[in-house]
Formats: sequence, structure tokens, C-alpha cells
Amino acid sequence: MKYYDFAVIGGGSGGLASARRAASLYSKNVVLIESKRNGLGGTCVNLGCVPKKIMYNAASLNELFAVSSDYGFDVENNGHNWRTLVENREEYIERLRKIYERNLDKEKVDVVFGSACFEKPNILRVTHEDGTSSFLTAKNILIATGGYPIIPSIPGSDLGVTSDGFFGLKELPKKAFIIGSGYIAVEIANVLQTFGCNTTILCRYGSVLRHFDEVISSTVSEHMEKSGIRIIRNASVESLVKSDSGNIDVKFSHQNLVETEKDNELVIWAIGRAPNSNYLNLEKANVTCDENGCILVDEYQNTRCPGVYALGDVCGKALLTPVAIAAGRRLVDRIFGGKSDSKLDYSNIPTVVFSHPPAGTVGLTEEEARQKYGSENIVIYKTRFNGMFYALSKNKVPTAYKMVCSRDDEKILGLHLVGPSSDEILQGFSVAIKMGATKKDFDNTVAIHPTSAEELVTMR
Ligand code: FAD
Ligand code: NDP
Repeated sequence: MKYYDFAVIGGGSGGLASARRAASLYSKNVVLIESKRNGLGGTCVNLGCVPKKIMYNAASLNELFAVSSDYGFDVENNGHNWRTLVENREEYIERLRKIYERNLDKEKVDVVFGSACFEKPNILRVTHEDGTSSFLTAKNILIATGGYPIIPSIPGSDLGVTSDGFFGLKELPKKAFIIGSGYIAVEIANVLQTFGCNTTILCRYGSVLRHFDEVISSTVSEHMEKSGIRIIRNASVESLVKSDSGNIDVKFSHQNLVETEKDNELVIWAIGRAPNSNYLNLEKANVTCDENGCILVDEYQNTRCPGVYALGDVCGKALLTPVAIAAGRRLVDRIFGGKSDSKLDYSNIPTVVFSHPPAGTVGLTEEEARQKYGSENIVIYKTRFNGMFYALSKNKVPTAYKMVCSRDDEKILGLHLVGPSSDEILQGFSVAIKMGATKKDFDNTVAIHPTSAEELVTMR
């Protein structure tokens, strides 16, 4: 049986970053096990951030055509070829996978394709595509197996697809129905609608992005509806039924009635993701999970079993690529680099929803701050305007910013942005907030004019 210093299960964001750092920085003998032959890069590269951002870019470009004539361009948009977009996107992803392969090879990480599970706390069995198994042993084992999209068990639910199915579309559907109200539902709805697909989104409660600050959920909902997306609120899906035309009817209850949205070419489930922890034989390593199957770890990513660690989506906390990467790098610094206190601080993690316009958030929402500190102890600054880019156009895209501060020292507790370029603007401001910036620090910074971001240092 081959022995390793470090065995990593899962070739996604967290697994790759951890394996590469252990091999390249600390010269450890590392194996990376990935269950999918074309899976290097994991969800982010193959079925997540990367294909999503390409689709978002395409939709953003499409929207720019609408404003270009206001700037004097005589540009005719003679349509769009969805298939070309998808083929080019997949070629790009294939290039990224090759880069990962080359880097792992250069850094002397052994890559094994197959599905890993525990035999003993320090022994893994890997089942390969051809049904054969191999075994390996390692002093340290990292579980970074990510998650999968949830499909509920209601009648006809398998007529719907998930974000994975969305990325498999070879043609733009004419009519789509999306169930869910989080990141994926909003991002996909915007892409589909921008390209002319008649799109409906169904939320269980009163709005999309309900878990974000109200300034984001209300501004994004408003603009989605203005751009033609139908939002059905406070509803729940009862069943999906194949219609006579071969499309899908969605039956849902809404205001005590059962309604049907007929003839959808595409139905997408976007109701969250569940951890890939089921088939790992975790009991053989005494690794425990919570009631949702998320692996339980302490703040150092330690599971209950000494020498076995877990991070990223499989732990169910802040399901974001940079979080998995950062947790992995810190873990490796701790176990191989002698940095005994190295761990990821999960507070003030910035995140962006690639809606149209994009929305970014870091820190506490107004609601969370009121609950945590009491309304009398916080102060809110808000602004709403139309960016200058749209000054010549009738169709404006809104911008709204909110800053949540503590009342005594005006420390910034949360920053919530929605509007063009919010995705890019937030990163730098997150550094300041992570460093403990106050409103006064922002006010002391000279504005960059004319930009939208300057509003953040001139808020009254
Ligand atoms: P993954 O990247 O999922 O990797 C896990 C890997 O483990 C997979 O390759 C899987 O095949 C493999 N595996 C599973 N079980 C086994 C086993 N038993 N043996 C061997 N291998 C196994 N995040 C952002 O930060 N920004 C975004 O814009 C963004 N967009 C997203 C869009 C979509 C549509 C989705 C679905 C996600 C998006 N995310 C985004 C989230 C991001 O993709 C994840 O948080 C990130 O990929 C998690 O990394 P991970 O290493 O934990 O898991
Ligand atoms: P999210 O957790 O973002 O959203 C899912 C939402 O769907 C829930 O919050 C819930 O909202 C709603 N929901 C849950 N169950 C049901 C149901 N049965 N019927 C109707 N609605 C339901 O999950 P996603 O699937 O959108 O994305 C998974 C994760 O991937 C995200 O949490 C995020 O961490 C990551 N991601 C990150 C992206 C980025 O960084 N830009 C992009 C895409 C994904 P409510 O409670 O309001 O009903």
C-alpha cells in the first residue's frame, strides 16, 4: 500500500489549493483523489463560478448594446448564438483543467481518479471507473468533497434540472421557471431573461435574496421585475407535470390556491446544495456530521478523528470558492508549516451575487446588527442614485449603498452594495472593514471622481 504525508479527497477549490501548497511549499508527499475523470477544478471551474461568470459576462455585454446608441454608436445587434457561447466557454474550461493537471504534475502531486472512502482512520479505499479498487494510507487526510444541488422529492421533480443542467443547455429555452431565491436562482434568471427567455422565479417567502440586507433584496427584486422577470412570492411548488406539448407544467400553491404555470421548456431547481458526505464511510474514521450531513469541524478544520480534516462546501459554512481555498492554505500552513495558530477567520467574508446589476455584501446586515447590538446602538447611512454611465439613457440601472455602523465609534459593521461594478468595488472596501475601519476613516479618504464608489466616502 502506498504511503503519503497528505491525502486529499476532492479535486475542487479547497482540495487543489491544499494539495498544491503541501507539495510545493512544504515538499510533502501528496496524493489528490478526484472522483470525476473531467473533474479537476471541482464545482467552481466546471459547474460553478467560472461557467457562471462567462454567462454573466455575455449577458452584461448584451445589456450594453441597449445603451450604446445613446452614446452615438450605430450598432446593430443581429442576434446571439447561444451554442457558440457555450462551446467557447467549455473550451476555456477544458484549458483550465489542463493547466491544473500540468501544475499538479510539476509540483509532483499524485493524482488518482476514483471515488475515495475510509477503510480505517488512516486508510482510504479508492474505487476506480472500471470497478477496481486500490488502497492508500496517509498520516493526514483532508476531506474536501464539496456538495451537490438539492432536488426535493415531490411528484415530477426530476423533470426539472439544477444549475448543472443549465450549463448543459445547447439552446436558449423560450420559457423557463426557476424555483428558489438565492444566488443561483437570481444569477441564472438574469442571464436567461437578458437573452430573451421568458423567465419566472418562484420564492417561498416575500423576496429573492431574503437573507441579504434589505437594500440588496429590494433593489435586485425591483430591477429584475423591471427587466421583465416575473417573481411569484410566498408560494410553494406542489408538482411538475409533463404537458401535452412535451414541456413542463409547474403546479404551485399560492395564496391558498393551486395555480399552474404552463409549458415551460425548462424548470430549474435552485434551492440550495447538500454536502457530499454520504459515501465516505465516515463512521470508519469516527468523523461526525450534523443533521444535514455537513461534516463537523472545529475552528482549525479538525474533525473528531485526529489527522482527519475537512473544509469547503462539505462543512456547509460559507459555500464560496475563496473560503475553501483560504481554509485549505491555512490548514496546510498549520499541519506542515509549523504555524500552530493558522486558521481561517470566518467573519467579514465579502461575497457578491452576479445579478444585473451585481450586489456585494460584507459584514452584518442592518437586521443582524439591530438584533446583535440593539437599534439604539447602530447608525445607518444610505444612498441611492443612477450612475453616470446611464446619464444619457432612458433605461437606468439603479445603484444603492448601505453602511451599517456602531453608534459610539462608528465602526463599520456591514457594507451592502448593489449597482454596476459593485462586484469589483467591494473587494478593496472589504480590506478596510476587515482592518476595523470606521466611518471617519472612509470620510478621511479623498474621493475618486467621477465614480460611483466615491459615494462611499461622502455618505451623509
Ligand atoms: P468542490 O469544488 O465542489 O470540489 C469537490 C470535489 O470533490 C469535486 O470535484 C467532486 O467531484 C470531488 N469528490 C466528491 N466526492 C468524492 C469522493 N468520494 N472521492 C473523490 N472525489 C470526490 N463561489 C464563489 O466564490 N463565487 C461564485 O461566483 C460562485 N458561483 C457558483 C455558481 C454555481 C452555479 C455554483 C453551484 C457554485 C458557485 N460557487 C461560487 C460556489 C463554489 O463553487 C464552491 O463554494 C466551491 O467550489 C467549493 O469548493 P470545495 O473544494 O469545497 O468543493
Ligand atoms: P442559496 O442558499 O443561495 O439559496 C437557496 C434558497 O432557496 C434558500 O436560501 C431558500 O430561500 C430557497 N429555498 C430553499 N428551499 C426551497 C424550496 N423547497 N422551495 C423554494 N425555495 C427554497 O443556494 P443556491 O442553490 O442558490 O447556491 C448554493 C450556494 O452556492 C450559495 O449559498 C452560495 O454560497 C454558493 N454560490 C455562490 C455564488 C456566488 O458567490 N456568486 C453563486 C452561486 C452559488 P428562502 O429561505 O428565502 O426561501
